Order: sequence, then C-alpha cells, then structure tokens
Amino acid sequence: MSGYTLIKKDKRARRGRLDTVHGTVETPVFMNVGTVGAIKGAVSSVDLKEIGCQIELSNTYHLHVRTGDELIKRLGGLHRFMNWDGPILTDSGGFQIFSLASLRKIKEEGVTFASHIDGHRIFMGPEESIRIQSNLGSTIAMAFDECPDSRSDRDYVEASVKRTERWLVRCKDELDRLNALPDTVNQHQMLFGINQGAVFDDIRIDNADYISSLDLDGYAIGGLAVGETHEEMYHILDVTVPHLPEDKPVYLMGVGTPVNILEAVERGVDFFDCVYPSRNGRHGQLYTHSGKFNIKNAEYAEDLRPIEEGCKCPACCSYSRAYIRHLIKAGEMLGLRLCVLHNLYFYNHLMKEIRQALDEDRFDSFKADFLAHYKR
Ligand SMILES: [Zn+2]
Repeated sequence: MSGYTLIKKDKRARRGRLDTVHGTVETPVFMNVGTVGAIKGAVSSVDLKEIGCQIELSNTYHLHVRTGDELIKRLGGLHRFMNWDGPILTDSGGFQIFSLASLRKIKEEGVTFASHIDGHRIFMGPEESIRIQSNLGSTIAMAFDECPDSRSDRDYVEASVKRTERWLVRCKDELDRLNALPDTVNQHQMLFGINQGAVFDDIRIDNADYISSLDLDGYAIGGLAVGETHEEMYHILDVTVPHLPEDKPVYLMGVGTPVNILEAVERGVDFFDCVYPSRNGRHGQLYTHSGKFNIKNAEYAEDLRPIEEGCKCPACCSYSRAYIRHLIKAGEMLGLRLCVLHNLYFYNHLMKEIRQALDEDRFDSFKADFLAHYKR
C-alpha cells in the first residue's frame, strides 16, 4: 500500500510515514542530495546506508545533459545504475534551468535553453521533464515549474504561477500515460506538485488551493531559500502550509540550516533537501549540536577528540579531528569525504531526533534545547 500516513500531530508539527514501492520513509526526513546520482565528496550508495539516509535526491537536468536518461533507462533505471534500492526523488529540472542554464526562452510549451556543459540547445516542457524522470524510474517525480525570481514584480509572478498550474496538469497527464506503459521503469512513480508565488501571500494561497484540488501524491513549496529573509520564509510557510491537504506530505525545497529545519517542522513540513551538509563538508565546515566549526583551524592540529563526542558516524567512530585536519591540509580526498560523511550523518540523525521527540510528545522542549546549545 503506497501513500502518506499521518501518525500524529503536535500542534502543526507532523510525524508521518510515506510508503513507496522502494520502501518506507519515516517523516520528517532529510533527503540526501546526489545531483548526478552520487553525493559530492566521494560518498557511495553503500555509504548512504551507514549514514542513515532514507531517501536520495537526484537531478533531472544534470542527468539529462550528461550521460542521458535514455541510456540510464536502457541500463534498468537509476536505482540499478547507482545500486541504491531505497526511495529516490528526482527534481524536475525547472530550478536548474532557471538558475544554471543560459539563454532561456520561456513559452507556453516550455523552455528553450543552452546546456551549461557544452551550450547545445535543449527544449524542456512538462512532458519532456516527466519523460526524463520516468526514464530514470525515480520513486517520486517533481512537477515541472518555473521558479520566479523573488524580486520579480507581482504581474510577472502571477502570470508565471498560472502557467506553472497549466504545466502541472500536463505533468499529471503525461505521468499517468507513462505509468500505464508496459516498458516503464517504475509504473508506480509518484508526482509531487510545487507551490510558487514568491513572497505574495495571496498568490501562494490561491496556488496552494488549486494544486491541492488535483489529488497529487505530495506537495512541495518552492521558490524559498533563494534570497528572501528567514522571517519571510517562515511567514510564507505559516500562510501556505494550512492550504495544503493534511493527508499528503509537504516538502520544503532546498532548505536549509538545522535551525531552518526545526522552524519548518514546527510549521508542518515533512520533507527537506539541502546541499549545505555536503558543500560545507567539502570546505571543512562541520556541524555539531553546539554549532558549526572549521576543522582547518590551527586549534584542531593536536585535537584527538572526534568531530563530535558521541557521534556514531564513520568519521567519528574511527578518526580524530587532528587526523582529519591533517588529511585536508595534505590534500587527501579522504579528509573531505570524512567531513561530508559526518555532516550528512548529522543531518539524518537530527531528523531522527526530531521524529523521536514527536513520538514522545516533546518537540517543543527538543527544539528549545537544540536552539539553546546551537551557536549561530
Ligand atoms: Zn560524526
């Protein structure tokens, strides 16, 4: 039986479960970002099991422009290709087209743009995005959307959101068609719609009401963490989440810091993804319950403690701060890999702590305690 089950609520915070053909995801959850089918920092799908990853996220645009989704389909789909049997969410490519690719031209049919790899022209609309995600065979496909710049004026945002709504209907029709074909990699592929509307409350709300009427498998809030303040982001969650269906998962795209995640869980968000743990890890920035620190600093040169006392990650179980710092200073890839493993473990473990707190009806005190110790 696939679908979302709301297990319990603590005010607006939700403890839930998403059952899929690739296994169960306990929520709230952090999705580990493997853009091209690998976590940056030499982290393999075997490592993902060890760091408590429940669900991996890969990118439609990147896999389409390099290696190609049709080749991956011929090889049995992304799960088989990267040897990961758990759930995978693929984003639609929309965000990358609007942030990475150049020479974009947006029309009702879709977007024409130049690849960031070799500049060749690509057309992608809702049908193309869904076809690529179907070829990859991910567990959850994301609807193809435009993410309007947060500084866009109201008229632009309104027209953009209306077009994205028409694109969503086309995405759903295309996915239904593909899921019914005999040679489809995952005939049970789910579809999440995406709420947009920049910082305009009424546009966000109208859009949330509209996409909720389409009975999708889940709902994402997009276009946040792109330059607005944290307060604006929390405000948008306050006004938007109550307009999404209670019996479906809510995903806040691209967020965020541990503090952002706690604030968003409190506002009813179930799914998160963010490049911070892997990107910061590759710069020697490490997360602990008392805040972030940089292992490259001289004060760790003779520090024999693990990155964080009590952490059960592969780095902390075996190596000292001094050794990891030495590896990074010596340019050894292992140093960065250990930092990324620790950070991802920290994020996955934080979500586990949040779920336990929700199970035991003590989310408020867990959050207060975390914030009291976490230096910002
Ligand atoms: Zn650790």
